[in-house]
Amino acid sequence: MKIPQNKIDEIASSIDIVDIISAYTPLRKAGRNFMGRCPFHEEKTPSFSVSQEKGVYHCFGCGKSGNVFTFIMDIDSVTFYEAVKTLADKANIKIEYEYEPNDADRNKIELLYEINNKAGRDFHENLMGRNGAYAKEYLHERGLKEDIIKKFGLGYSLREKDSLYKKFNNDFSTEDLIASGLVLSIGTNLPAEASAQAGEIRDRFRGRLMFPVFNESGKVIAFGGRRMFDEVTDEAKYINSPETKIYNKSKTLYGLNFAKNKIKDTGYVILVEGYMDLISLFQNGIENVVASSGTSLTTLHCKIISRYTKEVVIVYDSDLAGQNASRRAIELIIENGMNVSIIPLPRGDDPDTYIKKHGTDGFISLLNKRQSIIDYIGESYRTRGALESPEGKTEFVREIIGLIAKMRDEIKGDFYIKDIAERFSIYESIIRKELDKTLKLKSRGLTREIDDKLISKAEKDISSKGHPQTLEISLIKMLFYGDDVTKDYIINNLDIKDLNNPASIKIIDYLIRTFSDNKKINIANLFNTFPEGLENKIIGSALLDESSVLEENRNYINDVKSLLNQINITKSYKKLYIRNN
Ligand SMILES: [Zn+2]
Repeated sequence: MKIPQNKIDEIASSIDIVDIISAYTPLRKAGRNFMGRCPFHEEKTPSFSVSQEKGVYHCFGCGKSGNVFTFIMDIDSVTFYEAVKTLADKANIKIEYEYEPNDADRNKIELLYEINNKAGRDFHENLMGRNGAYAKEYLHERGLKEDIIKKFGLGYSLREKDSLYKKFNNDFSTEDLIASGLVLSIGTNLPAEASAQAGEIRDRFRGRLMFPVFNESGKVIAFGGRRMFDEVTDEAKYINSPETKIYNKSKTLYGLNFAKNKIKDTGYVILVEGYMDLISLFQNGIENVVASSGTSLTTLHCKIISRYTKEVVIVYDSDLAGQNASRRAIELIIENGMNVSIIPLPRGDDPDTYIKKHGTDGFISLLNKRQSIIDYIGESYRTRGALESPEGKTEFVREIIGLIAKMRDEIKGDFYIKDIAERFSIYESIIRKELDKTLKLKSRGLTREIDDKLISKAEKDISSKGHPQTLEISLIKMLFYGDDVTKDYIINNLDIKDLNNPASIKIIDYLIRTFSDNKKINIANLFNTFPEGLENKIIGSALLDESSVLEENRNYINDVKSLLNQINITKSYKKLYIRNN
């Protein structure tokens, strides 16, 4: 499948990169560029820069760089073609594909989608057939109806050790099946490619009720499996697919594909812990629900949620683990600039058992009585009797202040301060003093964090003076920003064999070949050729780092001469070193 270059250019020029990225992370105008918090790594202070005119982005924290296509590829875990398709739709541009049916190099990502999709159908067929009778009965006992079982694509994995593997091995290679996480090789610690030949291959999920995990657009990307038989005691009650090229736990929210429209309609989202909780609420007409799948809530989850709503209602299990998980989730949600309230369930209940006992009306009346963070945390202190003593009261106030310090909205923080002061008869001034202290500590902690991240490994490599790689980076800059005379000088005088770093060699080689062909090149297009890896980072740092960007179309002959000189010196040192050792 090929898309003509002129179509790709047309799409790129009719799309505003700031528009696209803003849907994932808020951007603010800063000088010539836009800045925001990086959607690819967790950070508290913006280091993600987007250039609207150039159509590119660069993160000074983690080093990710690219154009609007690589952005969609990365953030949605899709192929280049899918990214082009998505953006073409947005730009209202029709594209015709040139199909290449004998494409030997079937795209790995497409393949993983295919394997997961096929497995989902297979598990579902099992559940509906004779072998799945027991699991089906279990679902009926738990009150699930046929239509909901179908909607969520529930399934059953057979108990034999390798029934899926045997069936799928006709269509897919063992390596690809291992890469999908559906089968694994045991009795060996070798990497996947090697172990495919070595250890015994068996299915990851056996004798389990299967919950397919969908991505935002409804494609199966992973599975959760609940144990159905007790004799396999060494295995956990719930297991999940491992992370793969298409499944990233920290950015997958179970149920989001079904819930997203309802979330927008109702203006809030309900956050639960388990697959069954979600399905059970859904069956009872509560459809604006998501669950973090196979992990506790992460910042990336919060970022995804905030694209749909800023109001989160947490309803976790009433046990201690659930309470602790709630506390962590509250903090994260606040840190990400959203509002949070909590539905406390009666002791011993989870959302599934509660709605079964009390029905939709019962759940909705609980929902209407949801607690603010102050009520919720205050309640937990009160039930322990901790609010009676001055020490307990202080501890409680400190905890709330810790949360207020994380709020990005000062007005909201202020409202909370007044509220605690009034309700717990504490002077506002005392609370404010405490908040100031916390904020000071926090800002000190934060500065340290940014410094560490800013000097990420790639940046260190690139910025250390005199390092051969630094010379190569400068060369890339001259080659890109220099005028024709400069470019010609480099093309005629540089021997690419004298360079060291394989990644920069690739880039320089590509630039020289493109310029020799008299072709024009822009940064955004360069990222299509180097969408990932160290090459991508080097291009980002060399051409987008504002502190060192060069003027375009200038004569840099003198700089180039001195660069080539240094490269020659390094070369002779190297020879000397090799001879003497
Ligand atoms: Zn980043």
